[in-house]
Amino acid sequence: MTGFDILLLILLGLVAGAAWWWHRRWRAMEARHEREVAEFHRRHETALHEQTSRMEAMLDGMIEGLLVLDSRGRIALVNQAAESMFNFSRKMMGGTLLQAIRNHEVAALASQASAGTTAIEHEVRLEGATPRIVQVSAVALRDSAGATTGAVLVFHDVTRLRELEAMRQDFVANVSHELRTPLSLIKSAAETLIDGGQNDPAITSRFLDIIDKHASRLTLLIDDLLLLARFDSEKVDVHPRPVSLRGAVQEAFDDAAFPARARGVTLENQVPDGLIVRADPERLRQVLSNLIDNAIKYGRAEGRVVIRGRTLAAGHVEFTVQDDGPGIPANALARVFERFYRVDKARSREQGGTGLGLAIVKNVVQAHGGEVRVESEPGAGTAFIITLPAARAEE
Ligand code: ADP
Repeated sequence: MTGFDILLLILLGLVAGAAWWWHRRWRAMEARHEREVAEFHRRHETALHEQTSRMEAMLDGMIEGLLVLDSRGRIALVNQAAESMFNFSRKMMGGTLLQAIRNHEVAALASQASAGTTAIEHEVRLEGATPRIVQVSAVALRDSAGATTGAVLVFHDVTRLRELEAMRQDFVANVSHELRTPLSLIKSAAETLIDGGQNDPAITSRFLDIIDKHASRLTLLIDDLLLLARFDSEKVDVHPRPVSLRGAVQEAFDDAAFPARARGVTLENQVPDGLIVRADPERLRQVLSNLIDNAIKYGRAEGRVVIRGRTLAAGHVEFTVQDDGPGIPANALARVFERFYRVDKARSREQGGTGLGLAIVKNVVQAHGGEVRVESEPGAGTAFIITLPAARAEE
């Protein structure tokens, strides 16, 4: 082997070594790159997953129902609120809006929104087992080139809001009416006196009586209204303590002795001794006097009003105010606790009623953690049944 051959061999060896070294390094770089790509994908997937779960949680946390349609008008996404609003089952995914919620008005809104550029808002009544009023906002979804890719519909249930609005309007109308009637009577009585009636002592006395009677009615009405307003804003202080039910009934009967005698009504206290309720004595007196006054007013002339009491299980006492009057018609039973509801308006006004007595009874009883209900059969009298917490043995 010549020197040149040896040199060639060494050179070849060096080249092969360098190639092997580069190969190893290349493989290592390749493996590292693959690891980095895999790590990137993993991180990307985790981030995407987290983002999706966050978005789902946000959408499911919304009170409003949300529904997303794809470009063909098929349902692509529904949040939990919309699922329960429309009794939506997973099978409806991919179906049309009309198949899912069966409302032409909403379907028309969605297609109108998809075609337009601005959001559309409309209030829709959804029929069903429990009809609801919903405010629907629909807006088109667009890609970066401006082409429609679907629509988003947001449903806000305003049923309760509308009910409250209607109740408020009714209430204001009722209050105005209730105030206007005695006020106009007071005014016309005063005018009669001013116009010369005061010169006749008999007329003066009659019209002053009218003024006095209706001014008292106004005071009563305003007191009742203020009390109910305080119940509404939870500002009524109730200080329950052990009270003998029989004793409280006796006091209320004593207070009602005059009107009872005037109608020839007998008052019977059949509450056993030893029944002790946990109640605010003043408020209990108010409940009893409202119920007894009603039983005397609307019960039978020369009739009987009986109050009975008993202990119930689970630490409650029940008492019943029963009269033997004409009763309350079945269709009115559910409404007698409503503010200003009267079965016979003329009769109630003639008796000086405000139409708020039973609403006050209900509020007071509920503020004690009790319940009140009414049972009546036409011709067979009326019974108001109240449960109140019993006083505990250690009290
Ligand atoms: P009011 O001031 O008119 O008495 P309430 O709220 O106390 O108002 O009662 C509401 C209505 O319920 C009354 O107008 C009356 O028509 C009816 N009602 C209440 N108690 C009786 C009863 N014991 N028997 C028959 N009807 C009653």
